[in-house]
Amino acid sequence: METFAQAATMDSVTCPSCGLLCDDLSVERDSAGNLDVSKNGCAKSITFFARAPHTPAPRVDGKPVDLPTAVARAVEILEAAHQPLICGLGTEVQGMRAIMALADKTGACLDHMNSNGFMRNIQVVQNSGWQICTLTEVRNRVDLLVIVGTDIVSLFPRFFEREIWNAESMFGQDTTKREVVYLGGRDIDTSAGIAPDGRKPTVLACDLDQLPAVSAALRALIAGKQLHANSVGGIKVADLESLAARLHAAKYSVITWAAGTLNFPHAELTVQNMTEMVKSLNKTTRSSGLPLGGIEGDMNANQVSTWVSGYPVRTSYARGYPEHDPYHFSTDQLLSRGEADTLLWISTFNPDRLPPRTDLPSIVFGHAHMKLEQEPAVFIPVGTPGADHRGIMFRSDNVVSLPLDQLRSSALPSLGTVLTAILQAL
Ligand code: SF4
Repeated sequence: METFAQAATMDSVTCPSCGLLCDDLSVERDSAGNLDVSKNGCAKSITFFARAPHTPAPRVDGKPVDLPTAVARAVEILEAAHQPLICGLGTEVQGMRAIMALADKTGACLDHMNSNGFMRNIQVVQNSGWQICTLTEVRNRVDLLVIVGTDIVSLFPRFFEREIWNAESMFGQDTTKREVVYLGGRDIDTSAGIAPDGRKPTVLACDLDQLPAVSAALRALIAGKQLHANSVGGIKVADLESLAARLHAAKYSVITWAAGTLNFPHAELTVQNMTEMVKSLNKTTRSSGLPLGGIEGDMNANQVSTWVSGYPVRTSYARGYPEHDPYHFSTDQLLSRGEADTLLWISTFNPDRLPPRTDLPSIVFGHAHMKLEQEPAVFIPVGTPGADHRGIMFRSDNVVSLPLDQLRSSALPSLGTVLTAILQAL
């Protein structure tokens, strides 16, 4: 049985630091439990695993206490609450299941820290549906990739290495011949889109807030309409016509975006322009959307919430049954309108994702390295899934989940363990 006490090299480690969930990392462990990525890492994964083992004490009103005392105080706060808000939700599947049980018991509202972006996609799914693909389909089939307004590499550092310029594919495609187009987003580093044979990607740059007009124009051209304009959002219509023709000619195009970066009013309509383009293209060829996400467990939160309640997050249990509202049940709305009276914040992967400032009684279940700007009523440090304990994580494409391993011994409890103790005492 693994004791974790000795130095070791661990292969085929899954990294939960972004939605790609690369599962080919090698990680070295020393006898003190320090972890060091030795193979197939990226800057993000190296930072994630390099956080040293650390076991701070739980705190109540800023004073160190033992775990039962912190749990007892959390129970008191929740028993006095009428409208708790459980947000952040940065956890893996088992942690999220425990959150769902706590929300049901306390009549809480649930919201994820990445929901502002995620909801742009959800609204499209709810309104008109979409046709999207998995990362595996991208890796094996794409011949033309269109990236809309998104700096993929800063969010998903190994995306091109793993999904686009991969040396092998299942159907014998020469992946070096793939074409890449960047649409929108002026300041994006496009160097990762340079093909192994040196071909540069096509870059049709515009300001992010011009993407609604640009995507609407491209959608119209793909649908066979004529535009009576020379340029849209600073991009020549002739260039958009050329892109529309390339998309029609491609055997398997993929249009991708990370909704969190499309940070302008009604960006869901821009997402819808892309998903409707995909529908048009599929009348004569094959095309798919690829919404990128899965950072800080947003896919876990929404998958678990949906299979337990029928709704994604931004769902309230205050009436004794799940009630979903993508606008009114956002963390910002609930706090600004004074419609929550207690705040629970959860971030187990990332110590830098901090709770919103509030005067409400707060309970934070956080990464051991979290440095809070505002001391909550209760702080309980919990283990990091994929390093301190095992877990399950959904990949960006939402249909594939992967196991996370424990890589070292840790005295920190998992979020699920702590929430179960709270639930039993309520
Ligand atoms: S690309 Fe993402 S999943 Fe892959 S190693 Fe880097 S942070 Fe981890």
